[in-house]
Amino acid sequence: MCVELINTGTELLLGFTQNTHLPYLAAQLATRGLRITRQTTIGDDPAEMRATLTAAIQRADLILVTGGLGPTSDDITRDIVAEVLQRPLRLDNAVAETIRERFRKRGREMPKTNLVQAMVPEGATVLPNPNGTAPGLAIEHAGKNIFLLPGPPRELRPMFETYVLPRLSGAPVDCRIFRTASLPESQVEQLVAPALADLTGLELGYCARPGEVEVRIIGPRAAEAEPRVLAALGAHIFSTGHERMEDVVIRGLAGKTIATAESCTGGLIANRLTNVPGSSAVFLAGYVTYSNAAKIRDLGVREETLKKFGAVSEKVAREMAEGARQRAGTDYALSATGIAGPTGGTAEKPVGLVYIGLATPTSTHVQRHTLGFDRETFKFFVSQTALDMLRRELFS
Ligand code: ATP
Ligand code: MG
Repeated sequence: MCVELINTGTELLLGFTQNTHLPYLAAQLATRGLRITRQTTIGDDPAEMRATLTAAIQRADLILVTGGLGPTSDDITRDIVAEVLQRPLRLDNAVAETIRERFRKRGREMPKTNLVQAMVPEGATVLPNPNGTAPGLAIEHAGKNIFLLPGPPRELRPMFETYVLPRLSGAPVDCRIFRTASLPESQVEQLVAPALADLTGLELGYCARPGEVEVRIIGPRAAEAEPRVLAALGAHIFSTGHERMEDVVIRGLAGKTIATAESCTGGLIANRLTNVPGSSAVFLAGYVTYSNAAKIRDLGVREETLKKFGAVSEKVAREMAEGARQRAGTDYALSATGIAGPTGGTAEKPVGLVYIGLATPTSTHVQRHTLGFDRETFKFFVSQTALDMLRRELFS
């Protein structure tokens, strides 16, 4: 089944409005086992609309067109669809009355221009719009289903769920995701690919983001593949759904406590942990110690250590984590000290160098990384790596 989505609106192409219909409709369609084959964004331009629609009708079984059903001169969807399908537009009195009534309720007379919204292509079914004046339209044409939906998300979404979704049949797309951390994309693939080599007809995808690689398997054999992926990736997986790294860590801490000692991340680790509801039960203190003086004063880092090894060093990361753990009286403490850049690097300690520490009740581990990111990505990556160190410790 070929599904095409046509999003109209010049504001989308100017970059003024983000096309939120695409992710929304993709997720909705997936609940019926449908996937968008092709998506096109076009401006409010008759020639583009004509060409795009004509081509889509050749290819697709299901076509969704969004936007351009309003009463203004740039709202052309209804007219062009009628023209391309060669179905004359007729005034639908019931629709006209509904729109008139909508205005009456607000103590206003319906402007004449709104009557165009009551024009319905021959043979089309009107989809009511309780949240706006523009009704949607459903058209069956040469065995294909075409739906015209209003642009505003608050109008499109209820209309889609109430009137379009029930007309679509099919079992949900079986899509499973596995989110891993602290492993490069290529290594994730090296672990996963051999484990699934003999499963034909499986769609396998990888999506790398800073601090995370997501593995996606789609298809009727996804259930069969799942245990294999779980086994192949093991502890590298931190989530198989919407749970974020910080959620997993807070869940894993249950009954144990944590403090943070942050330099280059500026409090981001603490911020992420405290974004999780209920974190107050486990997160006791976060120290943002940007200067050497603060590291000494608030964490008890030794002056000699700073002098001998520098603030960005394995030893300082260790003393930061141990100091925070001791001063806050927690079971665990995370620390980070590094050079986020773009300035401040030396030959010996380049931009991107970072030490991340984890103090536990029994020992302290420090990881050294050299990262090549912009400042904000660097901070996120370091916070992700720190949280992942703790996660692995908690779930080992
Ligand atoms: P209206 O009756 O409001 O004119 P319409 O069907 O003609 O409805 P548009 O004029 O195209 O819709 O868009 C109305 C609003 O919806 C605008 O604010 C627009 O930015 C927003 N919108 C349109 N398409 C999208 C989209 N794909 N994603 C997010 N917002 C959108
Ligand atoms: Mg528009």
